[in-house]
Amino acid sequence: ASAAESSGGATATRRVLMFPLPFQGHLNPMLQLADVLHARGLRVTIFHAAFNAPDPERYPAGYRFVPVGAGVPTADLVPTGSNADFAGAVLRINERLQAPFQDSLRAVLEEDEEGAAVCLVLDSNLRGMQVVADRLGVPTLVLRTAGAACLVAFMAFPALCDKGLLPPQGNQYHSQLNMPLDDLQPLRVRDMVFSTTSPHETISTCLECIVESVRCSSGVIFSTFCDLEDVELQKVNDSVGVPVYAIGPLHKISSGPQSSLLAPDRTCLDWLDKQEDESVLFVSFGSLASMDKEELMETALGLANSRIPFLWVIRHDLLHGSEKVGLPDGFEEAVQGTGMVVSWAPQQEVLGHQAVGGFWTHNGWNSTLESISEGVPMLCRPHFADQMINARYVQEVWKIGFELEGKLERGEIERNVRNLLCQEVGGEMRRRAKDLKDKATRCIKKGGSSQTRVDLLVNFITSL
Ligand code: UDP
Repeated sequence: ASAAESSGGATATRRVLMFPLPFQGHLNPMLQLADVLHARGLRVTIFHAAFNAPDPERYPAGYRFVPVGAGVPTADLVPTGSNADFAGAVLRINERLQAPFQDSLRAVLEEDEEGAAVCLVLDSNLRGMQVVADRLGVPTLVLRTAGAACLVAFMAFPALCDKGLLPPQGNQYHSQLNMPLDDLQPLRVRDMVFSTTSPHETISTCLECIVESVRCSSGVIFSTFCDLEDVELQKVNDSVGVPVYAIGPLHKISSGPQSSLLAPDRTCLDWLDKQEDESVLFVSFGSLASMDKEELMETALGLANSRIPFLWVIRHDLLHGSEKVGLPDGFEEAVQGTGMVVSWAPQQEVLGHQAVGGFWTHNGWNSTLESISEGVPMLCRPHFADQMINARYVQEVWKIGFELEGKLERGEIERNVRNLLCQEVGGEMRRRAKDLKDKATRCIKKGGSSQTRVDLLVNFITSL
């Protein structure tokens, strides 16, 4: 029997509405969740911004895509470059898409048969859209695309500001940065400086909206799993007052189409086939993080000097501004055979390849979880948002990687890369990462914690 039949056909005509934030790291988990619900017999309508739009052609019957806000100016909605104001962009997206979304939602509700649309699952950054759904009587669920520890930190943010710990400032600035936060161990003040390029007020408002979206929802969904964030999930449970569904790693529980906005260069998989097991360092900083020319140069030389085989993703916009990426003279000859550069990789497959032995990452939550799911230890170089929190957990809690701190410098890079790939310390981290991978694998099997919670979530959605 199909999933729809086995649940008594209750899901067959039901439609879940979804609205992801239009960034790669947010689209991926939302579309993975869409696949999980679709596989259980629910139909899915995806509202999406007209920019960074998913490709409807990749999705089977039962999906509908509704662009929102075609024609609204988008230049300041896509944060790029050294002064990228991510928090500001999120607030502007809410402001600008709210009215068009109201029109689109109303139209969809009118077209669908009465009661078919059961709820709206939205990214927790889209509080503005939640207000619209409330107004039109549609219950909401919120998807957090970061870990539970991050939400715990966001909830604690206002109190830390009241205590004068955030934002760190004045002549205490440097000593304050390393101050441990006892209630949020292992975090320090510096791990909660979410951005140096968005104004403090903007960050505060943004975090407030996220927490509010969770508290005003009918439930919150996380791409994490109980064995990974047991304590933090308990804290969330104790304080949000709505049901909590930890159903990750979502990319492993879903088998749907890839929602990549850029075309991955699959030739790197052939190159990986030729490398020895666990010998290659994969280097990728996600879809938004950027660096300056000097950092790029030091990275290139550090990698080349380490003599460790590497696969490096240099996105077209990795360099601040629109500068063209220029690698050091002689770099390509120097690393011929030992290194490969691509502009976008099939990251999940790369991390799952037996040749990959380490991941130099910016610790976006998806990248962190994808690495954990494949048992790959990490060299952490967080840039902004929740990345510092994730890196801290990788190093201090799960002990499956370590942070590359301070200014990027070729000698330090070489030393750290070699530690991860060829020293005992890296080996120990790899063993622990493999243990976590086993736990992740267990939780998505029948009867596992995440799979069980998917059942609960589907029952809950169909009861709404
Ligand atoms: N990604 C990819 N190919 C690349 C680099 C990144 O497919 O070459 C994917 C990666 O697998 C992850 C997402 O892009 O799912 C990035 O999300 P993450 O949360 O790690 O970071 P963000 O881009 O949001 O900073």
